[in-house]
Amino acid sequence: MTTSTAPATTNTATLPVVGHWIDGALVPSTSGRTQPVYDPALGVATKEVALASQEEIDTAIASAKAAFPAWRDLSMAKKQQIMFAFREILNRDKAELAEIITSEHGKVISDALGEIARGQEVVELATSMPSLVKGEFSENVSTGVDVFSIRQPLGVVGVISPFNFPVMVPLWFLPIAIAAGNTVVLKPSEKDPSAALWIAAKLGEAGLPDGVLTVLNGDKTAVDGLLTSPDVESISFVGSTPIAQYVYETGTKHGKRVQALGGAKNHMLVLPDADLDLVADSAVNAGFGSAGERCMAISVVVAVEPVADDLIAKIVERAGMLRIGDGRRGCDMGPLVTEQHRDKVASYIEVAEQDGAEVVVDGRTVQPDGDENGFWLGPTLIDRVPTSSRVYTEEIFGPVLSVVRVATYEEGVELINSGAFGNGTAIFTNDGGAARRFQKDVQVGMIGINVPIPVPVAYYSFGGWKKSLFGDSKAYGQDGVDFFTRQKAVTSRWTDPADRSGSTHGGVDLGFPSNA
Ligand code: NAD
Repeated sequence: MTTSTAPATTNTATLPVVGHWIDGALVPSTSGRTQPVYDPALGVATKEVALASQEEIDTAIASAKAAFPAWRDLSMAKKQQIMFAFREILNRDKAELAEIITSEHGKVISDALGEIARGQEVVELATSMPSLVKGEFSENVSTGVDVFSIRQPLGVVGVISPFNFPVMVPLWFLPIAIAAGNTVVLKPSEKDPSAALWIAAKLGEAGLPDGVLTVLNGDKTAVDGLLTSPDVESISFVGSTPIAQYVYETGTKHGKRVQALGGAKNHMLVLPDADLDLVADSAVNAGFGSAGERCMAISVVVAVEPVADDLIAKIVERAGMLRIGDGRRGCDMGPLVTEQHRDKVASYIEVAEQDGAEVVVDGRTVQPDGDENGFWLGPTLIDRVPTSSRVYTEEIFGPVLSVVRVATYEEGVELINSGAFGNGTAIFTNDGGAARRFQKDVQVGMIGINVPIPVPVAYYSFGGWKKSLFGDSKAYGQDGVDFFTRQKAVTSRWTDPADRSGSTHGGVDLGFPSNA
């Protein structure tokens, strides 16, 4: 039983403290409040993270505010060059960054590199910012009158990120926000705060002026400070649904533009004609990759009978071949992020047993290739999960894959559509007509067709429906550009004595201006 390992060590007296990044430099915290940061594969606290005080929050926002005018006014070409330089630094130093991710999050190195690559896509998109913020121009909309639109940055923008993607999620927002001329205060997750400081330092190396990116470490106090500050124009939040809803409601009440991405419960619908080897590979990859700590993880396989028995046999075979252990040892799946989270995820297996489901693979018996104190839980497969069970209705966020058996395609779609979340989903079939019907009928923001984790590429936008996204704007892509800019429409007339078009300003006329 991995859940009975010794409690995580917290000898905080001698640990280094992760501070903030303000005005282009590491700044030690003065708040006197800290929280331990664990190496999940070792099960020990290796450092502490500073939890900002109101005074530190004010300092951070003031720095970002002071940096805004000069950054806004810097030419687009110079901003673009910084993004290109940062991209090259990511290419050069991504192994170092992956080590940092694994040492605080626990995901295996290859997975950490994957997250960096997906974040880097948005950096690459942001190198095109001069094209993305182009306005429109219409000549002579009325005689001698032209109309054009321009996009301007918002000012200081806040980004609040979750633990599960300490690099990718900040990079969903920072490159676009920064390249569009905003200054950013990033509040990373307190569980894995170091990657954000790495990004800040490397952006500085790429030429980003001091104050354009601030990293403010902290907890609810820091989040509330950003949500209520009159100097913060917008909030981009990613995290669990209850906090996303709170952030959306509080931020909008304080007059901010808010996009708050929340939790998920993603279903994979398997039709009887599907390629079951592809389905089984996909279910294992998307269910157990990153120990299930992905908002786009598949957590429910909806099997349209009679496929369930064959599919389960294939998943069991594959799950049995996975190496669970320290992400630095070439394993397939690492530990969970904290002991508390591991125990919470493991508790759902007990709930499943109580609710009459069938635990086919039990992750509590895992033998990891890693320290015995690590926060281990192996891949878990639960069949015949009642849809009334908390195992089905709640986001578990761990390596626990449920199977629900249904009789028809329609029953499967109805089940998916009746859920509270609408982040991602996938259909597996060789029937193009059914896939097309699914993409039309399903009430979910991101859909995979024979693709299990349909995270859109950077030039589309990421975001779910229902309780998976509060606000109207998704992350990155065109939505990201729209979110981090405000548009103006300018109507202009220049009188020109040499103009022979008959242009005239019309003299005194109190009628409402029209284009006649
Ligand atoms: P979380 O909600 O606990 O934390 C997210 C952020 O909110 C952190 O920065 C944290 O410091 C802050 N926070 C925590 N409690 C708070 C409070 N009471 N008041 C204000 N701020 C608070 O989420 P997590 O555990 O770090 O991340 C996992 C969750 O994020 C899962 O629910 C997952 O589905 C979700 N997620 C969603 C997406 C998406 O795109 N929809 C992407 C990644 C993760």
